[in-house]
Amino acid sequence: MDIKLPKGTKDIFLAEAEAYEQVESALINVAKLFSYAAIRTPIFEHTELFTRSVGDSSDIVRKEMYTFTDKGDRSLSLRPEMTAGVIRSIVENKLDVTADLPIKLYYVGPAFRYERPQLGRYRQFHQFGVENIGISSPYSVAETISLGVTAFTVMGFKQVTVKLNSLGDASTRDAYRTALKSFYEPHLPNLCPDCRQRFQINPLRMLDCKVPADQTLAKKAPHITAFLSKESQSYYAQVKTALKELNVAYTEDPQLVRGLDYYADCVFEFHMLSDKGLNYGALGAGGQYNNLVKELGGQPLKSVGFAFGLERLMAVLADSGRLDNVKPFTDIYIISMMPETDLYALKLSHNFRHSNFKTELNLEHKSMKASIKSALKKDAIYAVIIGDQEMKVNQVTIKNLQTQEQQLVPVNEVVHLMQHLTNQPGHHHHDEEAPDHGHKE
Ligand code: ATP
Ligand code: MG
Repeated sequence: MDIKLPKGTKDIFLAEAEAYEQVESALINVAKLFSYAAIRTPIFEHTELFTRSVGDSSDIVRKEMYTFTDKGDRSLSLRPEMTAGVIRSIVENKLDVTADLPIKLYYVGPAFRYERPQLGRYRQFHQFGVENIGISSPYSVAETISLGVTAFTVMGFKQVTVKLNSLGDASTRDAYRTALKSFYEPHLPNLCPDCRQRFQINPLRMLDCKVPADQTLAKKAPHITAFLSKESQSYYAQVKTALKELNVAYTEDPQLVRGLDYYADCVFEFHMLSDKGLNYGALGAGGQYNNLVKELGGQPLKSVGFAFGLERLMAVLADSGRLDNVKPFTDIYIISMMPETDLYALKLSHNFRHSNFKTELNLEHKSMKASIKSALKKDAIYAVIIGDQEMKVNQVTIKNLQTQEQQLVPVNEVVHLMQHLTNQPGHHHHDEEAPDHGHKE
């Protein structure tokens, strides 16, 4: 077959798929720990949702969106991020009016951006994120950032750094925009074409340019910190006080502006080198968005959120050797030796599964050596071997694949014995036909 994966996408299977599930469930647990609830929104939305929220001037909307017209002549786009859809859903379902504030939601799922594929950058990738909508205290911003840091701690990392900046309020950004324009004006002819456009539509974005020459110049640009209004300054100070109280290590980066149009006040990124010292860029990013809910037709609600890119997280975890032992495993590997024993083996697998053992059933009738090899490949701990001689006297062989010890066991005691051997607590024996004889070793 000569049909291949679309560029910038990837198949995730076996050990890697298992690792994704484990990381996702760890992240979800942290969100629940902070009392967030789940939300799932569509993978495509009306294009206008993204032009209005992410913003016309953002790289995402200008260059990276997968936009198409459906058979009903609607312009739709694959979601490049999740916040827009979450807020649309909140407004559409009137949660901004009816729910207790703040509304705290987490999500995990694929997002799509037409970008040049490279390390940590795909066209279909996955985000885990949280939205804390309708907050009234700056401490809620610190609380949300600490959720992100806690997620890294739970994954076994301590050295995460939070880059932090404040974009202030509207008056702050107005003043800063003017200052930036005067700074950049004389350099315009030397800037990249994108930056010349950004100069017109959203000069803040010029600080975020990835072209090296423009980055060098951006380092000399005035800092927004000097333009923060009194209110913005004191708000920002309170966020930082709370972060210190929560032992969150942060570094202020006055150049941090983030790529989306809806941000205001605090913005932040999560950075960390892998144990081998590789830098995958921002592993996660977010900030406050105070006008977005209103902009999409809802109440004026101060909000904060962030998103992690799972591919970058997984890359750091893998690079740091944290995924080496993550693979699917089996508790019990049942080997049926011949066609006559298959039904018996099938029944036994059913009993094991209903007693919560991860059970594989091998009906291939290969040699014992080959079957044990397959069991080891599945990382099984025990093999249960069923031959016709044993079946006739209602017995099976249990083999510990680590110690090679094996024993003959009456079939009606095998589930119970296995619970004993594996120290499995509190089991229900739904479908066990044979009475439990209370086997003791
Ligand atoms: P960058 O500056 O690296 O392009 P961004 O500002 O576009 O990042 P956000 O829109 O804030 O990123 O998305 C949040 C997170 O999603 C990023 O920190 C990153 O981990 C991840 N991410 C963004 N774009 C991609 C992509 N194309 N492939 C993989 N992960 C991505
Ligand atoms: Mg980007």
